Amino acid sequence: MSKYFHLKELIHSHKAATLRIDNTPDFAEVEHLRILTERILDPLRQAWGSGIVVSSGYRCESLNRAVGGSSTSAHLRGYAADLSPVNGKVDEFIAFALKWARDNRIKFDQMIDESGGRTGSHWLHVGLYNNAGQQRGQVFSLKK
Ligand SMILES: [Zn+2]
Repeated sequence: MSKYFHLKELIHSHKAATLRIDNTPDFAEVEHLRILTERILDPLRQAWGSGIVVSSGYRCESLNRAVGGSSTSAHLRGYAADLSPVNGKVDEFIAFALKWARDNRIKFDQMIDESGGRTGSHWLHVGLYNNAGQQRGQVFSLKK
């Protein structure tokens, strides 16, 4: 499916495992994960040149509810991934990803600098296509 990412990584969820939620995507959602990987995850990983961890990719309805995701979240359709760099330099990674997208005229719906939660974690949310199929190119920060 991809040079750098396994489908498993885009489906696996610690939360789903803990809550015994079956987070298996259907065919359409797997196809969306493939498109997301081909257009964003692989080329961004290649450009960044160092490991990237996907903390959340596809989310079924019950998993999305359990993590407090928006009811229109692109994660529900397999069109979003939350990314953080293995080297821990999150600010640098997010700045790099935004510049990479601009320089290469990458089409996307949202890139969100997200942080929060009890663990104080920090990650980049990348989403392709909103519910209406638009690529709005929105960039913003969000504290949860
Ligand atoms: Zn996200």
